[in-house]
Amino acid sequence: MTQAQFDRFYKYDELTELLEKWAQECPHLCDKQSIGKSYEGRDLWLMTVTNRATGPAEDKPAFWIDGNIHATEVTGSAAAIYLLNHLLHHYGGDDAMGQQVTKVLDSRAFYVLPRANPDGAELALADQPKYIRSSVRPYPFDEPQEGFYTEDIDGDGRILTMRVADPHGPWQQSDEDPRLLVLRKPDDLGDNGPYYRLFAEGKIRGDYDGVTFHEAPPEQGLDINRNFPYEWRPESDQKGAGLFPTSEPEIRAMVRFITDHPNITGGITYHTYSRVLLRPPSIEPDEKLPTDDLRIYQQIGKKGEELTGYKPLAVYHDFRYHPKEVITGVFDDWLYYHLGVFAWTAELWSLPKAAGVEIEDHTGWFRDHPDEDDLKIAQWVDENGGEDAWVDWYPFEHPQLGPVELGGYNTFCTWRNPPLHLLEAEVAPQAAFALFHASISPKLEEHSLDMESLGGDRWRLRWVVQNTGWLPTNVSEKALERKLQPVEIRLETGEDVDILQGNRVCKIGQLAGRATKSKSWWENDTPANRGKAEWVIQAPVGSILKLAAKGPRCGVIRREVKLG
Ligand SMILES: [Zn+2]
Repeated sequence: MTQAQFDRFYKYDELTELLEKWAQECPHLCDKQSIGKSYEGRDLWLMTVTNRATGPAEDKPAFWIDGNIHATEVTGSAAAIYLLNHLLHHYGGDDAMGQQVTKVLDSRAFYVLPRANPDGAELALADQPKYIRSSVRPYPFDEPQEGFYTEDIDGDGRILTMRVADPHGPWQQSDEDPRLLVLRKPDDLGDNGPYYRLFAEGKIRGDYDGVTFHEAPPEQGLDINRNFPYEWRPESDQKGAGLFPTSEPEIRAMVRFITDHPNITGGITYHTYSRVLLRPPSIEPDEKLPTDDLRIYQQIGKKGEELTGYKPLAVYHDFRYHPKEVITGVFDDWLYYHLGVFAWTAELWSLPKAAGVEIEDHTGWFRDHPDEDDLKIAQWVDENGGEDAWVDWYPFEHPQLGPVELGGYNTFCTWRNPPLHLLEAEVAPQAAFALFHASISPKLEEHSLDMESLGGDRWRLRWVVQNTGWLPTNVSEKALERKLQPVEIRLETGEDVDILQGNRVCKIGQLAGRATKSKSWWENDTPANRGKAEWVIQAPVGSILKLAAKGPRCGVIRREVKLG
């Protein structure tokens, strides 16, 4: 079977080929489908992975994975590919890993969208790359606007940093490592130069008077991870959110697929960077969540930290870019608040953390941190970054700004993504977390079936089903607020069967899991995970009865019974 490679990032064609090969090689375990087209018309490839022999994916609880919504965060795709590779290669194996994968795929399914934004990723991976936030659609302006914008101005295929000497610039060379720039001290009156202004490699569009210019609004200013329906806000409130919820084809396709598949019990979206597992709430404190949901989120997060080493954080409390602002319209809030399933944003990789910098305040660190942290990072990049990760400053004659220097971090393979030789090790632990998360889903199974002859053609029938999963069949309290459909048991009778007692369709409510079980041993473990239907029927010996039990999130079980 084809082995995924982690010594490079897959471009769209290579990714399509890899997924197609897997679909051909293991049709019993996976299939590939397009759930829609991107803005530029690329297919959004989704892989469904489950053991088909034990039932189709839609009859099983399922777990959602996507990656690379943000254009340059191609490590997200690598993590999704790693998971697919892991599932397909370990299924049927004898070792512990093989047994785990086999059990999960026999009873559950994965829906994996490795590249949610193929257009943006293709730009980032081009020979002459361009780094945009997400979609390539021009937004919010149809035409490029005046001002400073980022571009590979010397055509070497890298977008570096540009430093411009200026006696009033805010940066100066570090005493410890003159390649690095550190912020000038507040009381520096100009005796410690040279000083610099820093820019991304780029140019000024429009008339330049030789003195002033401003930043151009991005040509591709969408952030499609603000385009999900929950608490979506317009451009005036939140930049990049699109014209209306799901206005962007990539997000519309995801939202459509996920809502069409109520068997999805949770999800993870793979981004970079920070080495954290982010969860809702983004817009209100933890205390607003139903208590059981918060406890469950915290338990899952704890396990996630154990498996990945990434810290679980609630966005509202620990991952805000501005203390007075919140971000809305994102994937994980939508899954939790509208659908009532537990969802995460995994921020893969962190250059500072890899370099041994300890970060408590994940967003605040970028505003301010000790200069020693920058030295540590530069040293680490020298030793581990590989060729071209740091580019020494070299002179360039800028057409507008005159003599400048280009250099600094090649951010694509240092800050935004790990150096390639570390890619596989970085994403591997995420597969364990995804498998764990999938395996805690609710799961409907038969408990018992009893048939008793009442004489003549009369029979008493009792079917008991149970939730064997850790989560309840509703998954969350939030789902109950959202009026999730109950579990139901159906007697799908033939023409020769009369139901004398009992309903053809029995709605049995939701079945408990073990997720909220406390360590108080004196509490009675009443079998709240079981539900039953009972009927008295009239039908001749030898009649075949068809039974089905299903819940939106715990799968479907079917049973045929022959009377007699
Ligand atoms: Zn992202």
